[in-house]
Amino acid sequence: MRIYKFGGASLKNAQGIKNVGKNILTDKDIKKGVIVSAIGNTTNQLEEIVEALKTNNQVTFRYLVDLLYRSHIQIASDLLTVRLNVTLDFLEQQFVYLNEKIHKPFSENEDYEYDQIVSIGEIISSKILEAYLTENVSNVTWINAKELIRTNANYKQAEVDWTKTNELILNKYSDIEKNTNIFITQGFIGSTREGITTTLGREGSDYSAAIFAYTLNAESLTIWKDVPGMLNADPKWFDETIQLPHISFQEAIELAYYGANVIHPKTIKPLQNKNIPLYVKSFIDPTLQGSIIDAEIQDDTLIPSFIFKMNQLKISITPKDFSFIAEEKLSQIFNSISSVNAHINLMQNSAISFDFVIDNKKGVRELLTKEFEKEYTISFKDELELVTIRHYDQETIQRVILDKEIILTQQTKHTTRMLMRDLL
Ligand code: ASP
Ligand code: MG
Repeated sequence: MRIYKFGGASLKNAQGIKNVGKNILTDKDIKKGVIVSAIGNTTNQLEEIVEALKTNNQVTFRYLVDLLYRSHIQIASDLLTVRLNVTLDFLEQQFVYLNEKIHKPFSENEDYEYDQIVSIGEIISSKILEAYLTENVSNVTWINAKELIRTNANYKQAEVDWTKTNELILNKYSDIEKNTNIFITQGFIGSTREGITTTLGREGSDYSAAIFAYTLNAESLTIWKDVPGMLNADPKWFDETIQLPHISFQEAIELAYYGANVIHPKTIKPLQNKNIPLYVKSFIDPTLQGSIIDAEIQDDTLIPSFIFKMNQLKISITPKDFSFIAEEKLSQIFNSISSVNAHINLMQNSAISFDFVIDNKKGVRELLTKEFEKEYTISFKDELELVTIRHYDQETIQRVILDKEIILTQQTKHTTRMLMRDLL
């Protein structure tokens, strides 16, 4: 069994879905589990819909829901023939549910509300793909991931209950195995023990795919992308990117940790635990080699990798009474940071100051001020970028610090990290 994961970009229109179908149907004899994200930009649109509901902005709500409805109807109509009507009926049902939300009170638990709405994206994309494949081959089974991925009730960032999830997936698969060559299910979504829908965090479909690969002892997981493979830098920030043809699980975890956004950070561990290779391949040109991530470490250091995090905020806090920042204080500081859902990208401390760097998200500065202002003097520095270079050398460092003021540097044997500000 192979597990394939297709993201939103591969499913953005009827042509895209046909192409996804073609990739799935190559190597016909091999059983496959296919995990899909929502179509194109759907998840962002659903997030806007949640926002419109929250602010009770009825006009915007109706406009956005209608837009999403039309785009899905359009794709289904362009793609399907015999399965068109059942699929349209299904879409209709989902959008009736969505439309009715405006008449219902918005839950005090915003994240709960978010999961109930945003999860629809994956449900409808997977149904459309299922219909298309069913028109072309038999033995396709659609599975509702909510019934299999068991999570806690930490909405919007739910944690997976691995033991239960394993059991649920294995049971389901043994039921359908005989009559199924290809199963289609959703990434990103799950549900609690009570059956309430949850989501695993943005871009969580890779992680879902890894869960299925792990549980079903897949021979491999392939993540199909719109780039030729894993690159050594994000082309958004870097002109001359090089492909990483082969890296180890360990290296992939390091890259994901520092913020490389090719693969969701939680994806690697389950694969590493069962030694399941991960292929990152182009859905546009599947004949390209792509990238392989597996247990072999010998190629890890061949190519330096660059990870850029823009719009960083550096916060420095100093105790007003000049007391030392020792273990107990540090643990309070970490609690405060985590209580506002901020994630530390870099940190450094001295006797009486603690500096940390986070994504400069809206409102975070105010929240942290509230946390710290009683005991600490606080200062902020914004408009910073954090660059991490794995397997650096002098030349690669020179390349990124050109026209930059360096605010802070941290270096280990394999990794250098620089917090910088534009001089221009
Ligand atoms: N559709 C979700 C998102 O865009 C999950 C995913 O694509 O992995 O975040
Ligand atoms: Mg997506």
